[in-house]
Amino acid sequence: MLETFEKKAAFEKRLAEVIVGWPLYRTLKVTGDVLVTVDSYGQRAVPGIELPLEIDRYCETCKQIQRWQLKQPHDQGGFPKTSSEITFIRFDCKNCESGSLLVFLRVRVDEETIVHIVKVGQYPALELNPSPILASAMTRNDLALYRHALTCRNSNFGIGAVAYLRRIVENQINYLLDLIADAAKASDPDSPLLERLSEMKGEKRFSEKIDYAAEMLPKTIRRGGHNPIATLHDLTSEGLHNKSDEECVDIFDRCKLAFEYVIERLKEDHDKDALYQEAMKALARKKAR
Ligand SMILES: [Zn+2]
Repeated sequence: MLETFEKKAAFEKRLAEVIVGWPLYRTLKVTGDVLVTVDSYGQRAVPGIELPLEIDRYCETCKQIQRWQLKQPHDQGGFPKTSSEITFIRFDCKNCESGSLLVFLRVRVDEETIVHIVKVGQYPALELNPSPILASAMTRNDLALYRHALTCRNSNFGIGAVAYLRRIVENQINYLLDLIADAAKASDPDSPLLERLSEMKGEKRFSEKIDYAAEMLPKTIRRGGHNPIATLHDLTSEGLHNKSDEECVDIFDRCKLAFEYVIERLKEDHDKDALYQEAMKALARKKAR
């Protein structure tokens, strides 16, 4: 899909997304206000693009999202540019200065001045592991499937990636319904919805279950009016019908984010609540003595 950019800043943001999170070998095709002229010593000027000076990325050393600064290629004044077939790019974490992200970017400008940008290599590799809290909620079997899902996603095999993710969500949905039931119980122990929730655990149709879980999700876990579980409906076969690998990568990224967010938030609340109950019990025992 060809993307048109009216503003350089918007293109810069998109390019940062490609550098940080896009799979290898997925092509970003862009046009609009993106071209610059690149002079290289002793050679004629050629069309190219500007690279972002800074990106946001998770730092393994700092254990959080940090600002990263472009160190290579560097340019005297203005933005570093690239026009060559393959450009080596290095970003360093601005906070710890010990983490580096190395990326090989292939940039080609065709006769119609459309720019084709592909990430053809990176180090360290794209992430294959879930966050510790998500991992603690998954079985060993699901963890293996999760790594397969990300391996497909990171190689731009979106169709395979969503198939694996759907299987994981199917395996986890009863656990998810249990967490939702616990959250519902905490706010109203006699809620008539609780019985329906336990009935739904026996439901065989994936889309029915997802829609029901979405309806029951506590308001505190909805993000700015959006219901993250409803996003998972895209994993049903209607959602995937006739979709390309690249479209499936986008569906996968959206669904993965929603799934992780919901599991992590519900589990955190659940564990905190369990800790609180334990502490209260311990206090009561002390008093009784
Ligand atoms: Zn760092």
